[in-house]
Amino acid sequence: MNIILLGPPGAGKGTQAQHLVETRNMMQLSTGDMLRAARTSGTEMGKIVADVMDRGELVTDEIVIGLIREKLQEGSEGGFIFDGFPRTLAQADALGELLAENGFALDAVVALEVEDEILVQRVVNRAKEAIAAGKEARADDNEESMRTRLMEYYKKTSPLIGYYHAKGALKAIDGLASIDEVQASLANALDG
Ligand code: ADP
Repeated sequence: MNIILLGPPGAGKGTQAQHLVETRNMMQLSTGDMLRAARTSGTEMGKIVADVMDRGELVTDEIVIGLIREKLQEGSEGGFIFDGFPRTLAQADALGELLAENGFALDAVVALEVEDEILVQRVVNRAKEAIAAGKEARADDNEESMRTRLMEYYKKTSPLIGYYHAKGALKAIDGLASIDEVQASLANALDG
């Protein structure tokens, strides 16, 4: 089964994806994680994306589509979870083509719904917790970048909700409930 987890920054896509990886043998494809790995690699691409990410803006479609193209070719027995991709209509179209080229179907698009003020609180807390644990917080987990990330989401990513709704693939779930409850609604959306 191949699915997209759609939702604003801080909605819990990564947490839910991790659970699906553990319980369903699926492979998580998080463009955010791939880009964070690229930026620490010291490559030219890494330097270019670091600034853009820290501001909370989107990196180019070309870069992220390239990252996904490579991973899809590897295949995954339990299917793929697209987490943080696609984020633009151009990426959504490209994903459709890549899936078709590799003979894969898109089984569901699950949108996690969470209010903005809660999202801002979550990422600000995530940064505080990281620092309290002696780790480095993500450079974009601060209120200013988070406001930009939210604006990018509404301008460029939220149109995908209509796009996948029109394709009959969209399921929306409440992302405000506890992690376990969200897990249960997600399982329902995928299996029901
Ligand atoms: P979050 O969903 O918490 O904002 P991610 O880890 O998914 O975080 O993404 C972090 C940053 O990486 C984004 O703000 C953006 O700069 C970049 N990014 C990740 N995925 C994409 C994508 N599909 N298209 C463009 N930029 C992306």
